Amino acid sequence: MSEVHKFLFDGLPVRGVLVRLTDAWVEILRRRASSGASGAYPLPVQNLLGEMVAAATLMQSNIKFNGSLILQVFGDGPVKLAVVEVMPNFGVRATATVLGEVAPEATLSAMVNVNNEGKCAITLDPQTRFPGQQPYQGVVPLFDDEHEKLEKLSDVLEHYMLQSEQLDTTLVLAADGEVAAGLLIQRLPMAGSGNLAGSMVSQENEDEIGVNEHYNRIAILASTLKREELLTLDVDTILRRLFWEESITRFEPLTGDEAPHFSCTCSRERVSNMILGLGVAEAESIIAERGDIEVGCEFCGIKYHFDPIDAAQIFLPKEGVVPPSTGVQ
Ligand SMILES: [Zn+2]
Repeated sequence: MSEVHKFLFDGLPVRGVLVRLTDAWVEILRRRASSGASGAYPLPVQNLLGEMVAAATLMQSNIKFNGSLILQVFGDGPVKLAVVEVMPNFGVRATATVLGEVAPEATLSAMVNVNNEGKCAITLDPQTRFPGQQPYQGVVPLFDDEHEKLEKLSDVLEHYMLQSEQLDTTLVLAADGEVAAGLLIQRLPMAGSGNLAGSMVSQENEDEIGVNEHYNRIAILASTLKREELLTLDVDTILRRLFWEESITRFEPLTGDEAPHFSCTCSRERVSNMILGLGVAEAESIIAERGDIEVGCEFCGIKYHFDPIDAAQIFLPKEGVVPPSTGVQ
């Protein structure tokens, strides 16, 4: 079963989260493998997407925010886009668009950052939006302060957290065909409330960046966690091995119905709105060419069919309906 475990280091300004996605991650891979159009992911893409699933779940569990967290990596290599969405109830979906050959040992750069133009974006989309309210989005490049390409997703996200939250963060991520797992260790803000939107950051907090001895000690312990250990050991064993000299308070884990699970938010109505966004001329030309419109969901593999009558219905004027917005299905 998939699980989320949160913990605090007693009396220290440090917190942690450990996530393991098993059934939810396997279901994401199963749906992709059974889709005739694309088929299973090449191994390096599978592992990158799994690390993203673990990272997005860690971030969703680490912020006070009622909405979807969307983590995207996109760039100029054979992997055009990899995207993970974690809903507030830990419904998770993920997909990657692979347009070229991916070598068996391909690095992050070789997949999405060939010319150092790849980006990582984190979007917080509130569940209920005020009129005109836009989702918050932060974007970071896939290189470090010296413009050297980063080869670990965890390095990219640690950089992002420092920029957006002014908080030191250590991430260990790992994935294979059965497990997507991650450990997050973060220094708590000294005053004010750090958040992903980067507001309310105090000078006192900024002065602590990189120098808090407790955080630094715990971060070094966390970074000794090996990929194999993260993938194969249970949570109790991992925490005991890493932090046996520390005093930890653990919270009730999210398991069962509250645990991360596969879930897709696509619907026929959303696809109709997308077709409406294409415009009547484009829709008619697709029907003229193919006889109907078929839209497959990249996340779950469901196919939505619209015959000419269904398609015509979409463009009938409806009373009191606000023009649709296009976007994530
Ligand atoms: Zn779907």
